[in-house]
Amino acid sequence: MTDTNNTLKDLEAKGLLRSPRLVTHGSTPSGELSNSRHIIVDGKKALLLCSNDYLGLSTHPAMKKAAIIAAEKYGTGAGASRLVSGTMPPHTELEDAIKRFMGVDAALLFNSGWHANTGIIPALATRETDIFTDKLDHASILDGCLISRAKIIRYPHAGTEKLEELLKKSSARTKLIITDGLFSMDGDLAPIKELAELSSRYNARLIIDDAHGVGTLGAEGRGSIEELGLNIRDLTNAGTIVIGTFGKAFGSYGAFALSDKNTIKLITNKARSFIYSTALPPAVCMASIKALEIIKAEPERIIRIRENSAYMRDSLRGYGLNIIDNDPDDHKTASMIIPVVMWSAREATEAAKKLLDNGIFIQAIRPPTVAEGTARLRITVSSEHTKDELTRAATLIREAAGAKSI
Ligand SMILES: *Cc1c(COP(=O)(O)O)cnc(C)c1O
Repeated sequence: MTDTNNTLKDLEAKGLLRSPRLVTHGSTPSGELSNSRHIIVDGKKALLLCSNDYLGLSTHPAMKKAAIIAAEKYGTGAGASRLVSGTMPPHTELEDAIKRFMGVDAALLFNSGWHANTGIIPALATRETDIFTDKLDHASILDGCLISRAKIIRYPHAGTEKLEELLKKSSARTKLIITDGLFSMDGDLAPIKELAELSSRYNARLIIDDAHGVGTLGAEGRGSIEELGLNIRDLTNAGTIVIGTFGKAFGSYGAFALSDKNTIKLITNKARSFIYSTALPPAVCMASIKALEIIKAEPERIIRIRENSAYMRDSLRGYGLNIIDNDPDDHKTASMIIPVVMWSAREATEAAKKLLDNGIFIQAIRPPTVAEGTARLRITVSSEHTKDELTRAATLIREAAGAKSI
């Protein structure tokens, strides 16, 4: 008990104590809120600028309808894991739909991106494996590595030269290189082309977790790989694994892995998070299928999120805020994840509080989610924000964070 209290006190003293905020969005009984960007948080009306519902699909009428129809037809739960009796038409239809959408030959659903990483990595790695991971890779990748008991070698963010040195030194029989596609906290792209080259030169399998990139980047919304002009089918048929989630841009829930047919067969047989967990609810799968159809039918969402990201980045940069912005002149890769780096966790928290008082909901992201000394306001723009909303938000962000952004 004293340990519990001390740990909590310690977190509080460091400004790191967290608790979930209650957010109401979508249609309210009064009909007052009817979209994905105007919410009520802790009882206050606010403009939402920290959601991964990048295309506003979670409240799209066609998505809701698809889920309702599926629930009526198939019920609310799958009742068992996929390999027992939980595989229903919505699961196989969604696997076919994501294969078509991404242009690949084999796909497997997972219950979430977290399940995907903690299942796939141990399915491929053993104590005899060397795993090379980018220092900024998502927490679920690190957990997958830890479960596998492989040797974990973390390379500097996007540091392909250092990675090559490390690969040269490795005498492991199996090697994995794992990277986020679009990095979740810095909003920049992985050097996928260079990583793919290193992967074939050093006989190391490449895993790209593109949770934030799919649906938002690339002309057709196929993500970071398409954005960088690479061919997803060639990569996956060479054994690369691409992971994506349905919980972010697709406005639903669940995740998928893409690769060549044999790799997917192996993962199906070995990934414990796939084998030992109840299959996704069928209604969730039908909503995901609808999301893929909407993106195909309404490609303007992908154009709008690109425009909005560039507009917000330009506004914040114009105010002299320190946004993480690798190449300010290249809007092609200027993503919708826009971090404003602050002096300290406490200052980031105070700025977020001030913003919420002014009707703008942005979360402060603190260690351990990001490295010590790089606490930030992490702004995420959606395709549905209007220019007026973004203009007003940028002004308020300047007021709340301006003097404290390093
Ligand atoms: C969000 C995220 C995940 C987790 O996906 P969920 O479907 O939300 O569990 C995994 N990897 C990365 C890179 C992410 O950003």
